Amino acid sequence: MLRLFERRPPTAPAAHIEVAHAGEVFRVALKRLSTSRRLTLRVRAATRDVLLTMPSRSSLKSAREFAERHAGWIGARLARLPRLVAFAPAAATPLRGVDHLIVHRPHERGAAWTELGADGPLICVTGEARHVARRVADFLKREARKDLEAAVARHAKRLGVPPRRVALRDTASRWGSCSSTGRLNFSWRLILAPPEILDYLAAHEVAHTLHMNHSPAFWKLTRRLFPDAERAEAWLKVHGAGLYRFGAREE
Ligand SMILES: [Zn+2]
Repeated sequence: MLRLFERRPPTAPAAHIEVAHAGEVFRVALKRLSTSRRLTLRVRAATRDVLLTMPSRSSLKSAREFAERHAGWIGARLARLPRLVAFAPAAATPLRGVDHLIVHRPHERGAAWTELGADGPLICVTGEARHVARRVADFLKREARKDLEAAVARHAKRLGVPPRRVALRDTASRWGSCSSTGRLNFSWRLILAPPEILDYLAAHEVAHTLHMNHSPAFWKLTRRLFPDAERAEAWLKVHGAGLYRFGAREE
């Protein structure tokens, strides 16, 4: 999961090709890599897209032939991705690792809140039906900000560094990052994960304010703030992509 936190140099936007199979057309993004030795196809769960990486010297023709030869595999992998869950009444979404049923309460006051229903926890939202999805997303982002700000402040205090501003993102490539201005960016989707995962990411990014790398010194500092970093990384590796099933994707 280290990959998710690496600060990569900016790359040019990837070209793409389209391949057809069994009446479907798949868009395949192309990425040339000087370090790659062969053509590789990947179906990414978080972004639900297809990526073909190729050595810088490979031809577009060979990439297309490779993708066409594996079009059946692409279709099967895409079909096997977990179903998307919209933020709609009667749908369930995790919040701090616990499933919550979404309930529309058009006639009540307030915007959104949680309560314990007869069958388990609920997220209740008011307003018009067409605004339910946005209100649920806004509610989750507010909760994410609250938890992330508290966790960042706590870890910063332990390290004796000034607290950092928190910004929320919905990028699929990384859960957290820190900007050159010292602001810490996080995916709002961390609020869907168990609380310790959000806490770990906050510790990880706060540790980066002292070490802008993944050196042994960085990991030592991260483990001082969050001892079981390996377990959190392992959780993200297994379940991270699943957090992108919920609600609409934004960039
Ligand atoms: Zn990192």
